[in-house]
Amino acid sequence: MEVKQFQAESKKLLNMMINSIYTHKEIFLRELISNASDAIDKIYYKTLSEDTLVFNKEDYYIKIRVDKENRTLTIRDTGIGMTKDELEENLGVIAKSGSFDFKEGNELKDGHDIIGQFGVGFYSSFMVAQKVTVISKSIGSDEAYKWESEGVEGYSIEPATKGDVGTEITLKLKENSEDENYDEYLEQYRLKAIIKRYSDFIRYPIKMDITGSRPKEGAEGEYEDYTEEQTINSMVPIWRKNKNELTDEDYENFYNEKHYGFDKPIKHIHISVDGAVSYNAILYIPESIPFDYYTKEFKKGLELYSSGVLIMEKCEDLLPDYFSFVKGLVDSDDLTLNISREVLQHDRQLKLIAKNIKNKIKNELINILKNSREEYEKFYKSFGRQLKYGIYSDYGSHKEDIQDLILFYSSKEKKMVTLKEYVERMPEDQKYIYYAAGESIERIDKLPQTEIVAEKGYEILYFTEDVDEFAIRMVSVYEEKEFKSVSSEDLGFETEDSTSTEEKEENKDLFEYMKEVLKDQVKEVKISKRLKNHPVCLTNEGDLTIEMEKTLNAMPT
Ligand code: ADP
Ligand code: MG
Repeated sequence: MEVKQFQAESKKLLNMMINSIYTHKEIFLRELISNASDAIDKIYYKTLSEDTLVFNKEDYYIKIRVDKENRTLTIRDTGIGMTKDELEENLGVIAKSGSFDFKEGNELKDGHDIIGQFGVGFYSSFMVAQKVTVISKSIGSDEAYKWESEGVEGYSIEPATKGDVGTEITLKLKENSEDENYDEYLEQYRLKAIIKRYSDFIRYPIKMDITGSRPKEGAEGEYEDYTEEQTINSMVPIWRKNKNELTDEDYENFYNEKHYGFDKPIKHIHISVDGAVSYNAILYIPESIPFDYYTKEFKKGLELYSSGVLIMEKCEDLLPDYFSFVKGLVDSDDLTLNISREVLQHDRQLKLIAKNIKNKIKNELINILKNSREEYEKFYKSFGRQLKYGIYSDYGSHKEDIQDLILFYSSKEKKMVTLKEYVERMPEDQKYIYYAAGESIERIDKLPQTEIVAEKGYEILYFTEDVDEFAIRMVSVYEEKEFKSVSSEDLGFETEDSTSTEEKEENKDLFEYMKEVLKDQVKEVKISKRLKNHPVCLTNEGDLTIEMEKTLNAMPT
């Protein structure tokens, strides 16, 4: 038996691995399974180039086994295996990736699924294991070798016996301590959950012997224990399937499986892009608001996969805030990952994907708005406010993306309309887009200021949410039309002057008296030309409307 020290650098790195690179210990399983999948891929690529070999799909799998008594967890694969030298090179030198070299050597560039690249994933097993034993037999070799290590101190290599080609990795789990429980990695439900979470779309079966109890056939009320080998992962991700093969129901089921929400999404978007950056994505536009949507607790984001392996549960960078309601995932082989494969480098590829996705969502929403108005209004009820916040925030820099997606209640139609619809039917003499702000539709209906505008035959948009007026300020001009509050001093059209100078003189004392009583609450009391059926109304001279002032005053300072 040969006993070797890790290289000095490797020691340091190994310590770092164990203590700080990963935030979740459970990912050790993702890493070992990814390696097993890579090893099978390598055989697959070999069979492509060597006529004597055939790739018989049934022969290739990954098997997870638990031995509770001995507290061991074993991951076995029928992949390419490692020779003695490869065991030394790949496992004895940290940051040495046989998989990366394989990709380079075989010039496998894009479109290929080998996951490994940094040569550190394997060592994550030391986060949970006190001892790691690897027994491997390389393809085309009669000998098997055993590599064993208890961590930082070094490793040993000796000949071993193993029937089939492939690799078997056994982790002797650490003892439980006060704040760490390692026994959980011996529980089938826990292992199943980890596999489902991170490795569901590994293309080879990940098998486990599952024990349970089930109703006995033919014997009413009796149960029997059983053990059966099950494949845990679903293997082919729905987003890599052809759209034509999938039904609406498939997408809905996936939405449920993924626990994106309890509602039925109003739309799914399935994207497959092959280009500067290739990626697949499935996105959903939900119908109802998550309970915490308009709170600080809500976190936006899409799931991010790299070559079918989950990298991030909520990648925020993929969605702009104003589309934060979108659920779904993105899978790309072209991402630049960082070493822990947890967090991403903020790279060009990700930005490209995000931009692309944003446009797809926008177009889809416009589509729904055009073709299924009712559905859109349902959606808008839930998320319209977020869209309007989107225009308001960031100084309106993405108003172009959103302004055609917002709706307001209209005086003319007595229903929700878009800005486009408003502008298209404006009478020729109308200069502005008029709006009235108030607490509710009923309140605005009773506003004296709306009368004169309505009488003129002009449509009025009703702003009933705090954010409305602020958002519209950011839009500022829509199709060359400015917005105007019905309570602004100058309405932009001639109002017939029914008050003469005499009238003003006549009422002077009355106005002065009223101003005295109201004190600072009003700036001035004067005769109005715009009233029809109401005795009095409030107007404002400056830039802010009364409703905006109210909102601003209510804000915490
Ligand atoms: P990476 O996967 O990024 O290359 P790892 O530390 O996970 O880094 O693995 C190091 C290397 O060890 C791999 O590149 C591969 O050459 C080899 N290896 C690890 N696990 C296996 C396995 N199950 N079968 C064959 N080779 C393996
Ligand atoms: Mg790896």
